[in-house]
Amino acid sequence: MSFFRPLISFFLVCIAVLVVSCSDGNVKAPTYSAESLTRIQLASAGVEKIKERLPELESYIDKQDWNNIRSFIHGPLGDLRTRLVGISKELLPADRPKSLELGKEIFGHLNKIDTAAADNNQNIAATNYSEALKDLAAFNDLLPELPKAAPTEAAESTMKAPDSMM
Ligand code: ZN
Repeated sequence: MSFFRPLISFFLVCIAVLVVSCSDGNVKAPTYSAESLTRIQLASAGVEKIKERLPELESYIDKQDWNNIRSFIHGPLGDLRTRLVGISKELLPADRPKSLELGKEIFGHLNKIDTAAADNNQNIAATNYSEALKDLAAFNDLLPELPKAAPTEAAESTMKAPDSMM
């Protein structure tokens, strides 16, 4: 007992310190500003447009249309990574590293599809296509909840908001 008692009081002090530092919640978790949300929405609308065209790439892979696979990756998908990085920069610090990592992953998969097309390897192309889709979905999960309306409409409705509140 004589050995444990000081230990117990030491732990009690530790717990007290923890409770105090936790309940002293002046430090608020960072949140998104309206401007930041608008920028994310605009950037992700661009990414959505690219994503809508992805089935084209899938059909080229199905048809082993190597030339179109390559021109699709360098054409419509060419600036996908830049767009993803642009979105990552707007995310909260806690989500940024993961989103940058996923952006790199997606780019890596597209490069592998490109190489697979050059090597006429449909299996590798198809595998990396589905991996890219998974990583894009994971990237999407990191985004804050965005209004569903088109960006221009959303900008209008936020400008109108003060009126309707009066
Ligand atoms: Zn991946």
